[in-house]
Amino acid sequence: MQPTGNLHIGNYLGALKNWVRIQNDFECIFCIVDLHAITVYQDPAELRRKIEEIAALYLAAGIDPTTCSIMVQSAVPAHAELGWMLTCVTPVGWLERMTQYKAKAARQESVISGLLQYPVLMAADILLYQAGIVPVGEDQAQHLELTRDVAQRFNSLYGDTFVVPGTALPAVGARVMGLDDPTQKMSKSATGQNHAVALLDSPAAIRKTIMRATTDSNPAVDFDNAGPGVLNLISIYQAFSGDTDDSIKARFAGMRYGDLKKQVAEMTIAHLEPFQQRYREIVADPAYLAKVLSQGADRVAPIANQTVRTVKERMGLYVG
Ligand code: AMP
Repeated sequence: MQPTGNLHIGNYLGALKNWVRIQNDFECIFCIVDLHAITVYQDPAELRRKIEEIAALYLAAGIDPTTCSIMVQSAVPAHAELGWMLTCVTPVGWLERMTQYKAKAARQESVISGLLQYPVLMAADILLYQAGIVPVGEDQAQHLELTRDVAQRFNSLYGDTFVVPGTALPAVGARVMGLDDPTQKMSKSATGQNHAVALLDSPAAIRKTIMRATTDSNPAVDFDNAGPGVLNLISIYQAFSGDTDDSIKARFAGMRYGDLKKQVAEMTIAHLEPFQQRYREIVADPAYLAKVLSQGADRVAPIANQTVRTVKERMGLYVG
């Protein structure tokens, strides 16, 4: 996750919640991608503060730092090193086709070249660790495809070097939409007041945002004719509760929108309140957070450095 803006329930349901679920099934590495954050200007003091906030949110969600590695991207220089080497095998045309790049570039007068290269650095983040799967929200699926293309291109040019990674999307919650506009994905950079529920919002703020969510002109839930706003609210409920499709249908069919929103708000609050309590305990101990991050970097650096060494050898670069 990028240490920018306020993490919201889209980040939680699309990514973080699933990381916690799979953390004992794999050897997991969870990165805080500060080098990605600077593809858009960041206030330095705020960026530094956000890095620790994200680390605390990972821990509060239940990621266990004794079995998983939590680390900051810029603390392991191999990310930037491999990023450059992969830049040199990636055609510009592949990057110009990325929908996130096109959307972000359209909003800027002068486009920073790092914004175009961003998916190559993301490929480096993944390929450095020979990752088998990458659990992300749907908006990152295209970048994962690009990662596979970059890995395959490198492997065909220089011989088998990288594991070609798979994408793991959650069954529900892969694309949480904006509450004010359910045609747009919930995003940290959106400015609308009722756009998102942030993970650290108070219960009153959560209730207010969800009660104001855009629905449609029907009075109550009709699954055959439900608009995107209603389906978004229902899938937020389902992603938190883990209920089956059948029990969701039985619960919400015919329910008036006011009641639907109340149930979604209470379900969200029930999950976020204990999470926020853990968050407050964790941030009260900055020495513990610093230890988690330095241990995480120490644990993963040897894997990353070994990959960079192999890549340098394969490319004919100087390894001493
Ligand atoms: P980012 O906001 O780019 O730092 O994304 C961090 C993670 O959250 C990525 O795995 C994204 O795919 C996921 N994510 C971001 N926004 C959403 C959303 N609206 N719905 C589901 N997942 C999301």
